[in-house]
Amino acid sequence: MGKNPAAKKKQDADFIATLRHSAAHVMAQAVQQFYPGAKLTIGPSIEEGFYYDFDYDGTFSPDDFPKIEQRMREIIEKDQPFVREEISKEDAVSFFIERGEPYKVELLEDIADEQVTLYRHDDFIDLCRGPHLPSTGGVKAFKLLSVAGAYWRGDERNKMLQRIYGTAFPTQKELDAYLTMLEEAKRRDHRRLGQELDLFSIHEEAGAGLVIYHPKGALLRFLLEDFERREHLKRGYHLVVGPQILKLDLWKRSGHFDNYKDYMYFTEVEGQEYALKPMNCLAHMLIYKSGQRSYRDLPLRYFELGRVHRHERSGVLHGLLRVREFTQDDAHILCRPDQLHDEIRAILTFVKDVMAIFGFSYELEVSTRPEKSIGNDTDWEMATKALMDVLKEEGLAYDVNEGEGAFYGPKIDVKLKDALGRRWQCATIQCDFTMPERFDLSYIGSDGAKHRPVMLHRVILGALERFIGILIEHYGGAFPLWLSPVQATILTVTDRNIPYGEQVYQRLRAEGIRVEQDFRNEKLGFKIREAQVQKIPYMLVIGDKEQETGTIAPRRRDGTDLKGMELERFLASIQDERQIPEAHSSKRR
Ligand SMILES: [Zn+2]
Ligand SMILES: [Zn+2]
Repeated sequence: MGKNPAAKKKQDADFIATLRHSAAHVMAQAVQQFYPGAKLTIGPSIEEGFYYDFDYDGTFSPDDFPKIEQRMREIIEKDQPFVREEISKEDAVSFFIERGEPYKVELLEDIADEQVTLYRHDDFIDLCRGPHLPSTGGVKAFKLLSVAGAYWRGDERNKMLQRIYGTAFPTQKELDAYLTMLEEAKRRDHRRLGQELDLFSIHEEAGAGLVIYHPKGALLRFLLEDFERREHLKRGYHLVVGPQILKLDLWKRSGHFDNYKDYMYFTEVEGQEYALKPMNCLAHMLIYKSGQRSYRDLPLRYFELGRVHRHERSGVLHGLLRVREFTQDDAHILCRPDQLHDEIRAILTFVKDVMAIFGFSYELEVSTRPEKSIGNDTDWEMATKALMDVLKEEGLAYDVNEGEGAFYGPKIDVKLKDALGRRWQCATIQCDFTMPERFDLSYIGSDGAKHRPVMLHRVILGALERFIGILIEHYGGAFPLWLSPVQATILTVTDRNIPYGEQVYQRLRAEGIRVEQDFRNEKLGFKIREAQVQKIPYMLVIGDKEQETGTIAPRRRDGTDLKGMELERFLASIQDERQIPEAHSSKRR
């Protein structure tokens, strides 16, 4: 009998985390041997490896990595056992004071338990919950990757530490595959491609985390928006638009102020306080409340490409992936409790259809009630059960993320996997019994009495900024034809061909093709290379032969030379490829 796959997956993940954390101890030992006086802080395993933060007066440099790695190999070769020791907190405090490790002492002060554990290998001892591998020899394939600054406890008021990142895998083969992927990811970095393809920029003088779309980037975004509007209309959503700022009192009523104010921007005009919306829910609820609703009116699905502001700490901002202003493809569905399952199911189908268009596979996670939250236990249980029930009914596997839900309800998170196998959080479906209560939303049931609707908050692509960042890296900038800001460029061979080139250009423009012209007096090979760097899907070459025969010679950006053909034939051949695709609904039951 095979093992339960979820349990197996968890076991593998635990093993990798233990392996990496053990590598972090080995690295810390090596670092302290080379840099006496480097003080230990924390050194956890993370999703793709591990790090250790040190307080050190000098500067660590990646140039030192080879010698640190060499020392690590020596420690691994010695195959020292990791020994767990339980001692009283008091003893641990004196121990670390004596060893000159003040950060460990500070960490100990936050621990409530009377007994704590230390892990020792060789002469290296760390305050640590464990677990660890049996011995250092278990660390096999590892690599140090980078150095970065990091504030102690992530707080910019604290001292800046130096963080060394590394990774470790059970085998060299897995490590090599990961390093190759990292190289490819660097090549596809959306910040770099965003500049090379002239899609967007972010300016410190305008504000960190605020994206400025250049013409090609804006066009890319509009194409996605067109796609979204059509898909939502097809699925029975209403398009709505809410204001950018709403009165502060409303945010207090919704619970946002109490639970979310650290991420919000506030403003005051004529003595009236407002908040910039960090979420789109409130206006949608006011639309619902603007009329008397009957059970026959439900479900009501309000969709908005809603621009929101959230104050993220400057340290976490990252290109398009983590920003302070972004647009969500956000919808709020108000339905009767008996419609809840069908609505959740339809959203899951929607996600599936849309992700297939972009070639993403994905995994599902259910996030449960966080510490900071509103609502009562019964509602939270009901909402969580509804989400899990549908996943079970649909036979979909999912992981559980304890305590990672939104403050108003549990959610299904969709983690999509890009062309490099990296995971990204995009779509989410949140089930909420609380907000309708707070805003006293109701409908008249078939029994003539007032009832409370349930609210689903959901996004499909998530934040467009982030999704575009992911798309840029997923496609390496070579967008499919329908999404390419420039679909074709016309390259003349000599100046003689310019008038004919102009004719072709006009014909394509009239056809709605997004076309550019390169009529410069440059070598054809040079022009082709430039167009390839710009990832333009089609290059239409025009020389004397094409001019005489009234044809064009198209090439694809991958170098494929299509045979010379008449322009009309070329247009017919890309007809399907250039249409905004339809997300074909997989059959609903
Ligand atoms: Zn440890
Ligand atoms: Zn919402």
